[in-house]
Amino acid sequence: MYPELRLFIGGQWRKTADDLAVVNPATEEELGRLPCAARSDLDDALDAAANGFRTWSRTAPRDRANVIRHAAALMRARQEEIAQAITLEHGKPLPQARLEVIRGAEFFEWDAGEVMRTYGRVIPAPKGHKFSVHHQPIGVVAAFSPWNFPMSQPARKISGALASGCSIILKAAEETPAGAILIARAFEDAGLPPGVLNLVFGVPSDISGYLIPQDPVRLVAFTGSTAVGRHLTGLAAQNDTRVLMELGGHAPVIVCEDTDVEAAAVAGAIRKVRNAGQVCTSPTRFFVHDSVFDAFAEAFVTRIKATVVGNGMEPGVEMGPTANDRRVSALAAFIEDARKKGAIVETGGAKYGTQGYFFQPTVLTNVHETALIMREEPFGPVAVLNPVSSLEHAIAQSNSVRYGLAGYAFTNRADYIDRLVDEVEVGNLSINTLEASMPETPFGGVKSSGSGREGGIEGLENYMTVKNVWHSAGIA
Ligand code: NAD
Repeated sequence: MYPELRLFIGGQWRKTADDLAVVNPATEEELGRLPCAARSDLDDALDAAANGFRTWSRTAPRDRANVIRHAAALMRARQEEIAQAITLEHGKPLPQARLEVIRGAEFFEWDAGEVMRTYGRVIPAPKGHKFSVHHQPIGVVAAFSPWNFPMSQPARKISGALASGCSIILKAAEETPAGAILIARAFEDAGLPPGVLNLVFGVPSDISGYLIPQDPVRLVAFTGSTAVGRHLTGLAAQNDTRVLMELGGHAPVIVCEDTDVEAAAVAGAIRKVRNAGQVCTSPTRFFVHDSVFDAFAEAFVTRIKATVVGNGMEPGVEMGPTANDRRVSALAAFIEDARKKGAIVETGGAKYGTQGYFFQPTVLTNVHETALIMREEPFGPVAVLNPVSSLEHAIAQSNSVRYGLAGYAFTNRADYIDRLVDEVEVGNLSINTLEASMPETPFGGVKSSGSGREGGIEGLENYMTVKNVWHSAGIA
């Protein structure tokens, strides 16, 4: 059920002398040993990617799209194999892992279509001259994907790079390497030329510190925490290398007095525990109008208490473990800090069980604005419910953090919706739903939540440069 773990460099699967344990977070059992790249492996990956870029950037867009579509079809056909590997290494319920595989395939399918529409343009010019604008692949991409979506996170980066005609060296997360490995297998089987997609693992800071300043690297694409994103942006800046940063979020949910309070509470509670809250768009800070606060809190806490927690391989489980013991202690520290500042723990608040990295689904109320959890994302199954007196108050609270990735609101009032669209500082605003993005919609943040967009018609722009051409008929 769990694949052999290897590096993938220049079309070859590689073992190395150094390795790391990959652990099932639900059982703490070792699933496999992950090879770590040495400097010489990274040098090989850079050479392979530079060669891969020469081949792939000259491959017709239609032919690139066909390889990508073929690989996506293989991922769909292998849905069960990939989903089981994801659940073993990440812990999420198997039905959610199955959906993740399909979502990953959809990212590839969307970009395979988009590459045929990366139009340039012709600009009116004087007689005897032609001005034209061309979109060209930027070059070798160094990408870093996190562990919360082991398949769809690497898919985003690989998809953008390959569709645009770039080659890529991806360092996927060491906690969850199988998702990226099974994507690479699908591309190998679909006939992707060697060197276009390279996969490495190791100590994250060693790999990023070595790869990012190298000359062939023209784009650094990262999804993860704001702190690490800032660090990588600094490394890239030393070489004037472009960055695409999908960083943290701390999503507000504004619950207005006109909404169906119980339906909003149940939707919010179900969404909060999805992926054990380890989602950059996870709804966390609920700002609920005073007049409906008690009814909302009661329905929310009731649904959170009903969450079925367990090993994602077991049927009926709604929430699996968190990724590792670091998350369990980080969540406990957030709750302890909030409690000291007056928060009430309505339910949960501690590690769950004795085996695995489970955390109890948790609801805090009466959380003071100085509590750390009001400023930093918990990245776990913890929700904060606070009352607000007006929409203005809710928007001010929503915008009070440095994050600006996703935001949600429940209301049917047109005047409220207009204000939310104008004033909430996020890259993705959802009204009456807690879904934040689809392959065809641009996803990304404002403020400290990052720069650039993935998906939508904007997605491939990150991976391409614009060349302006002035062609004069005679020497002028
Ligand atoms: P972390 O910041 O140490 O790591 C987050 C990711 O970045 C991991 O995949 C890690 O391998 C990678 N990383 C860390 N240092 C790196 C470096 N120097 N170079 C390259 N990659 C590096 O945190 P963590 O404890 O693993 O995860 C918790 C935090 O990460 C959360 O609080 C959340 O903010 C963030 N996170 C965000 C997302 C997201 O989708 N935006 C996903 C996963 C984690």
